[in-house]
Amino acid sequence: MDCLFCQIAAGKISAQQVYSDDVMMAFKDIQPQAAVHLLLIPRQHIRSLNDLRPEDAPLLSHMMQTLPKIAAQQGLTDGYRTIINTEQGGGQIIFHLHIHLLGGSNLPGFH
Ligand code: AMP
Ligand code: ZN
Repeated sequence: MDCLFCQIAAGKISAQQVYSDDVMMAFKDIQPQAAVHLLLIPRQHIRSLNDLRPEDAPLLSHMMQTLPKIAAQQGLTDGYRTIINTEQGGGQIIFHLHIHLLGGSNLPGFH
């Protein structure tokens, strides 16, 4: 498997991890676009939002409900921005589903 984020999930490539459980993890983006810039990924390989199946619903629900807890742990008490880039037209570069969690100073606009 040559997927970068699968390799991070498997511990084969190191990342600055801030959260981990049985089904997901969160780590710092290597090229942060804001003071806090994390990536949340499912441990299982899902290429993009376009590849979600009905049975992935509990996983996605878990990720979305864990996200605010991670934001709070990062000190983002007054809010944050979430972005999911989907396929080439959406600017996706790594084809393993991930949620960008951005906050703090230098919060970027949409792009
Ligand atoms: P996207 O355009 O949504 O696919 O974003 C991919 C993100 O992954 C970019 O913000 C990159 O900076 C980030 N990234 C690429 N390689 C790594 C890595 N090894 N560790 C952490 N973040 C990475
Ligand atoms: Zn993957």
